[in-house]
Amino acid sequence: MTQRIAVLGATGSIGDSTLSILADHPKQYQVYALSGHGRLDKLFELCQQFKPSRVAVPEDKVDEFAARLQQANLTCDVVGGQAGLDDIAADTEVDTVVAAIVGAAGLASTLTAAKAGKRILLANKEALVMAGSLMMKAVKDNGATLLPLDSEHNAIFQCLPPEVQQHNTQIHDASYGINKLWLTASGGPFLYKSLQQMQTASVSEAVKHPNWSMGQKISVDSATMMNKGLELIEACHLFDLAESQINVVIHPQSIVHSMVEYCDGSFLAQMGSPDMRTPIAHALAYPKRITAGVKSLDLYQLSALEFIKPDLEKFACLKLAREAMQSGQEATIALNAANEVAVEAFIKEQVSLTDIALINGRVLDTMHQRSSANQSVDRDFRGSIRTLDDIVIIDKLARIQAQKEVAQCLS
Ligand code: NAD
Ligand code: MG
Repeated sequence: MTQRIAVLGATGSIGDSTLSILADHPKQYQVYALSGHGRLDKLFELCQQFKPSRVAVPEDKVDEFAARLQQANLTCDVVGGQAGLDDIAADTEVDTVVAAIVGAAGLASTLTAAKAGKRILLANKEALVMAGSLMMKAVKDNGATLLPLDSEHNAIFQCLPPEVQQHNTQIHDASYGINKLWLTASGGPFLYKSLQQMQTASVSEAVKHPNWSMGQKISVDSATMMNKGLELIEACHLFDLAESQINVVIHPQSIVHSMVEYCDGSFLAQMGSPDMRTPIAHALAYPKRITAGVKSLDLYQLSALEFIKPDLEKFACLKLAREAMQSGQEATIALNAANEVAVEAFIKEQVSLTDIALINGRVLDTMHQRSSANQSVDRDFRGSIRTLDDIVIIDKLARIQAQKEVAQCLS
């Protein structure tokens, strides 16, 4: 049967990789809906190529985009803004939602897809960082399926026993002997550079990733290793583990995409060329397999696979993520929000690359103090984050605080 797919964030890097696979398998997959925020020319070209039934654009672009499609004789329902994304995510015609919007902007539609019981292919890690327990509960309560696209999480998923993958048993079930997860990280462009070189790094140096080609935000996150921090939090929620059960190891070749350590000493790893089409194809076809157009790994050409312990002083964002995960959801929401503001300021050349960790740390401290001071008067956020609105409030507060910290760096 043909799977009907909605690609939210179709104009981005994950969107590109997904659509290239879908184009190769037209009998199995139908592109039912697309969304894009910027680069609407590209979205228009995608509409010409895939002829989706529905497309979501920013609210103020609906009329213009609809007129353009009409002129090209394309019949397509154009919807706008958050309501449009939610409408597509919950559309009864949709089987699978590819959640590939970047940042906090992707949270609401991913949650909507979970509530509608969809098969969700999750690239938007920020959704789990901000709303992990809410998201996992919505998936469980509504019979949705969550398959990770993030290469590390997809690798771990592939190395888990099928009973755990399908939630027929818990990851904690001792008879399956899962001891630990190992998340691999490339170390980014500054692995062999000093902290001082990081301090003066330009935007183009920071986004030049040695192995992966990705969107701008995640590339900066890779340079600071905040990406691995976000992935650590993502893994805790996806696999129901404490942060102490997940190790991070730098593996500069990006061939081993992550590992599961078992009690008998076995380490199961998933390997492959660093190409997002592999995890995307895996999740699209799971539990079957389809071709992804990915170059086979030439093992004869691999001279070495290295594994290095991360330097947490240089990559302070990774340390902050562990601390945030320990302290609770308010902290992970605040860290994600602060980081989005700080990365944007770095891209606008307002702050340095190393200021990102500084800003993130200061925002976490302030939010923590504020939360402790307000516990009795205001409300105790800890453990009481039940709705998207609760999350949005903390996210907003953290962004305001982060803007103040950016201003401080500027002065
Ligand atoms: P990107 O910047 O290339 O694309 C982002 C997409 O989101 C675009 O389609 C854009 O139009 C849309 N978007 C941006 N702001 C929006 C808003 N306010 N409202 C609605 N749509 C909006 O990003 P990407 O690299 O494709 O990453 C997408 C997600 O996947 C991120 O969460 C990232 O962490 C995750 N991810 C990416 C990769 C990768 O290799 N690129 C790997 C693993 C995980
Ligand atoms: Mg990743």
